Amino acid sequence: MTRSLVATGKAGWLRIRRGAAMDVAVCLVMCCIVTGCAGSGEGGASDAEMETGPVLAAESFLADIAQNVAGNRLTIQTLLPLGADPHGFEPTPGDVRKVAEAAVLIVNGAGFEAYLDDLLAGAGGDRMLVEASAGLKPRSGPGERDPHFWLDPVNVKTYVENIRRALATFDPEGADEYASNAATYTLELDQLDAWVKGQIQTIVPERRLLITNHDSFSYYADRYGLRVVGTVLPGASTGVAPSAQQMTRLITDIKEAGAPAIFLESGANSQLAQQIARDTGAIIVTGLYTHSTSDPDGRAPTYLDMIRYNTIAIVGALR
Ligand SMILES: [Zn+2]
Repeated sequence: MTRSLVATGKAGWLRIRRGAAMDVAVCLVMCCIVTGCAGSGEGGASDAEMETGPVLAAESFLADIAQNVAGNRLTIQTLLPLGADPHGFEPTPGDVRKVAEAAVLIVNGAGFEAYLDDLLAGAGGDRMLVEASAGLKPRSGPGERDPHFWLDPVNVKTYVENIRRALATFDPEGADEYASNAATYTLELDQLDAWVKGQIQTIVPERRLLITNHDSFSYYADRYGLRVVGTVLPGASTGVAPSAQQMTRLITDIKEAGAPAIFLESGANSQLAQQIARDTGAIIVTGLYTHSTSDPDGRAPTYLDMIRYNTIAIVGALR
């Protein structure tokens, strides 16, 4: 059975992904086939899950968002270990096996999962592939696309809608429940958005400045009226070190802007940031939750906690 779909967020939200894109007409036929496969009498999702394999999300924050939509009908499993850096992630044979067994794979998309094509080729077979960020417009900036949409909770409302549609296709009998869960969670995202807005407004405007380890907070900054003065690592990934010239430029920019703090995501190497801090007098704030939730007993076990934690850390350093 062929089952390989991608949410595109355009007019037709699903398309077949098997090396090359096919047209929407084929997709609609495939959707029906998926529906037929997943709907198995009165058993509902648990049966669908058992018959077709688990629902897998690439990153922990994505699994948490999807779990909020799935509620009690499905258990969303996570591919990447907690704290792993998705930019440099290299799947193990065990990861390939997990994907091979999955009926649905939810990814962020926008190039965030650079390992994805190789992983899917290694896993073989077909599955429903859901791009949670489909339909969101990447920030226009120099260089590559910025995939970090989720750090703006308003963007996550689109994630929720894409995931809701995918789960309702996978398990049509659960559609009403997914819709109701999605509505509840969307309300929580709206409340979080309003809260972050209020928090950032307690910072005087001239100190609403961010320096981050890599370019990950631009959507957040755009939403809440902060300015990203610069990043320690150039670009929206973590794999490239800055040149001496880029370091000098960043130090000059930080001094000119009077940016008070450098924010590093949890697990980031702080060596370059320490050098910049020495030269500029900026303080270093570590441990922001950018790519992963914390463990269940940690400070940010859910996506909503990640945004709350980051906001408290940012406001604490800039106020
Ligand atoms: Zn990143």
